Amino acid sequence: MLKHVSLWLALTAVLSGLASAADYSKFTTPGLAKAQITHSDIAPLISYYQQQNWLEVTELGRSVEQRPVYLLKIGHGERKVLAWSQMHGDEPTATAAIFDLLAIIDAQQQQHAATGKGGPAWLDEISLYLIPMLNPDGAERNSRYNALGIDVNRDALALQTPEGQLLMQAAKKIKPHYGFNLHDQNRYHGAGDNKKPATISLLAPAYNEARQINPSRHAAMQLISAVKPLLDKAIPEQLGRYDDEYSMRSFGDTFSGMGISTVLVEAGGNYNDPFRQLARQLNVQLYLRWLELISSGSYRDYDLSGYNSIPMNNSGGMKDLIISNINLPKVDGKGVLARVDLAFTAGGNGRGSAGLDEIGDARIYGAYHSLDASGMAYQAGKAYPLVKPLQLTTDNYLKLLADGYSHFSGDAGLLSNNSGLPVAINPRGVNGPWPQRHASTTFLLSKDNKVQLAVINGRLIRLADGSLIDPFGGN
Ligand SMILES: [Zn+2]
Repeated sequence: MLKHVSLWLALTAVLSGLASAADYSKFTTPGLAKAQITHSDIAPLISYYQQQNWLEVTELGRSVEQRPVYLLKIGHGERKVLAWSQMHGDEPTATAAIFDLLAIIDAQQQQHAATGKGGPAWLDEISLYLIPMLNPDGAERNSRYNALGIDVNRDALALQTPEGQLLMQAAKKIKPHYGFNLHDQNRYHGAGDNKKPATISLLAPAYNEARQINPSRHAAMQLISAVKPLLDKAIPEQLGRYDDEYSMRSFGDTFSGMGISTVLVEAGGNYNDPFRQLARQLNVQLYLRWLELISSGSYRDYDLSGYNSIPMNNSGGMKDLIISNINLPKVDGKGVLARVDLAFTAGGNGRGSAGLDEIGDARIYGAYHSLDASGMAYQAGKAYPLVKPLQLTTDNYLKLLADGYSHFSGDAGLLSNNSGLPVAINPRGVNGPWPQRHASTTFLLSKDNKVQLAVINGRLIRLADGSLIDPFGGN
């Protein structure tokens, strides 16, 4: 009974928009907080919802590799809403959010069945159609593209992918008034010049080169204006507006041209949140609020000032790691030649290895991890030659680093690393007195000729206590 009471309280809070993260966590579908979500993750959830009588689950069709793509229909109102997620297979955040939304509706429906009260208010006004994971083959590969290597979101005109065909067929059959195009963006998008990540970015996509505003695009902009206060409160300075350059091959722009009021939602990065659980929860909040706004029509009370005041996405405005105020030594080692910041990103949408993007003044960027190295000097490390088997422990490794060795050279097979710390073997960009762009990720930082910090493939080891900061293990 207590459990039911707490669930009911959480449900009430979630629906009234006053929920805490703990309230939302009660409706967080287990098993989806991870970097890659595949068809096998959602298959049991689909089976569960196929057995519930408050929604219709149909197989819309199949992907290139014959994985099923599902269409879920909830409600029976005249206002039709179509939302689809993961048309880019490596962008799973909204798929998790869709299942969280379903968990909330499921709880409401169970409450309604038990008490005759508390069903979703919008069911009579809206027919909600959901396509979770439009591109299951891409999801399987953790790839943006489908199994043919085609970007489904550049296939809205040519319609050569089964996945793109399914989405277009669904749109033509359902004739939605509203469309929600649910994506993830790379974590290096900042929100304007806030030096903070764009954890959510929104856009009412253009339907022509001139980026005109017709009634349906106007409505999409109003829907965004209407949720801006919610996001300003939840993520101050971390809301961005996606670039509205017309992209004729994309579904959002094409649907916008078909008179569907389309909103693009991009889930983005956040500090210490590698699986984007904040963006996931915000997606759920947005869906609930939009259902309310569409159901009542009250979004029409909003003008476009909210939309227009959202700062544009700042592509590349965020870095994984910035080490600032490093002294570069003069060639003779006597005195300081320049003082610079070093900015690193992992590349590969966060899955690659560390790279040194920029040397110089990095004050315009935000960073997921930053370190002020004032008073420390760049020092190229020496190579420790591997000529016989070497058992590396934390103690002997820290001693090597303190002695000015930053990396190993020779046969990697001779090294057994039991230190629990990263090592660099035959790295690039380690020679010369100064760091090199796109090369140096392994070097030492010293103060008064004593090594303080070792940067090993972009990971930071503090010599004083052997502690490690890994800016590239997620964000
Ligand atoms: Zn995408």
